[in-house]
Amino acid sequence: MQTSTATTASIMAFQSLVNEIHDLNATQALLGWDLETYMPEKGSPMRAKQMATLAKLAHNMMTSPEMEEHLRHLRQSGIPEKLDTMSQALVREVGRVYDKSRKTPLELLQEMVETTAEAHKIWVEARANKQFKQFEPVLRKIISLNQRFAEAQGYEDSPYDALLDEYEPGLTVKQLDPLFVKLKSEIVPLLKAIQNSDHTPDTSFLFDGFFPAEKQLQFSRQVLTDMGFDFEAGRLDLSAHPFSSGSSSLDVRLTTRIDEHDVFSALSSSMHEGGHGMYEQGVNPALNRTPLAEGTSLGIHESQSRMWENQVGRSRAFWLHYFSSLQETFPELKRVTLDQFYHAINRVRPSYIRVEADEVTYNLHILMRYEIEKALIEGDMRVDEVPDAWATKAQEYLGITPTNDAEGCLQDIHWSHGSFGYFPTYTLGNLYSAQFFNTAKKQIDGLESKIAQGNLQSLKSWLNREIHWVGKMETAGTIVQRVTGEPLNAQYFVDYLWTKYGEIFKISR
Ligand code: ZN
Repeated sequence: MQTSTATTASIMAFQSLVNEIHDLNATQALLGWDLETYMPEKGSPMRAKQMATLAKLAHNMMTSPEMEEHLRHLRQSGIPEKLDTMSQALVREVGRVYDKSRKTPLELLQEMVETTAEAHKIWVEARANKQFKQFEPVLRKIISLNQRFAEAQGYEDSPYDALLDEYEPGLTVKQLDPLFVKLKSEIVPLLKAIQNSDHTPDTSFLFDGFFPAEKQLQFSRQVLTDMGFDFEAGRLDLSAHPFSSGSSSLDVRLTTRIDEHDVFSALSSSMHEGGHGMYEQGVNPALNRTPLAEGTSLGIHESQSRMWENQVGRSRAFWLHYFSSLQETFPELKRVTLDQFYHAINRVRPSYIRVEADEVTYNLHILMRYEIEKALIEGDMRVDEVPDAWATKAQEYLGITPTNDAEGCLQDIHWSHGSFGYFPTYTLGNLYSAQFFNTAKKQIDGLESKIAQGNLQSLKSWLNREIHWVGKMETAGTIVQRVTGEPLNAQYFVDYLWTKYGEIFKISR
């Protein structure tokens, strides 16, 4: 069937409106990147205004009568089927975001912006003073705003579902609970077995020496190039906290952070951000200037960064190839064997701080936060109960008790931003990465020996083809089913941990 002239005109006008909104958002992202990297200190107040202006313009265009009219026309029954697949996906995705923003009362949004701006300052102070009590009143307010938001959006089973949906569309408590139960029942015993083994890798040489920033940066750039990150469509710079950003698949900005007394962390965070950046670079360029030109969800995005950081960057195969060049770059490491190095970068030790956690304990940190967040949002936990709940769970899962609130419930920035429902996407990333890598090993002939020869491109091309190219045209659930032949399954991650750490610590299930 032919599309009518009215529909053709509407889809063209709709697309150009979407393109312009995307241009504003992309420009805002670049201003944000500049703010974190090169902007002189004094530029900060004006930059905040510039970014707020762009955000307001984009919001106005997104909720304009023009947008309403296009979506009303393009979502009429019988119309979407006549559009090409890209236009269909675009109407679906923009419509989804439009519906969500329409459901959120403007005063609630404004209250959230004002509260979190204030909350951030309070959190910084409370953390410095190690006093949760100082943060408690504003956190109570943030939770009640999130509950109001969930009510406005609507949900089936739990108000927490409405918050999860912001970061991982469609994800629910019903799906997450069994995943976390499985992880808890498998990882807590694994951690105990590791702690009971008599092997404690020496890590002192990772920090014992002076590893010049310039050399670290050069090494990271080389590895990123070998991975297939396109430096003609991207950059690597320095910032206080590593991140990945950019304005299109042809302009991706990565940052890393360098400690000249730590030989591994900058490389590791570069590979992590490189995984995010290569996802963005790998999207079909025809989707640029639309929201489809992005990773499909935070969980799938994190699977790409975790794969390069851990499945590749902490693997024996990778270091079989790269260790000698690392030793050439940093001669201090010449006294260290490949095995000693491989064990050191895979040391397992429960820590108070999530961002310092190893692969084994990391998801236990997320589990704690998930259980606490869910209880707070569902009204099963009072805000003043958080520090005690934190201490109990840290003891139960990690076997350690924080000595103060800064080491405990005040360590993460997310709640001060107003973000509830974000943490689980980190765990999803780990689970997806293991499941994808398992399929990659089956489909790429001799993948591990290729990696051991420094050939990282075959994995990159596979990821480009199987996961990156579709951008947001497919949902996370569709991608994992198509690529691996089944829905998300935590068993792959559990097996990966037991195989790898069983070998290092000489333990078995
Ligand atoms: Zn990440």
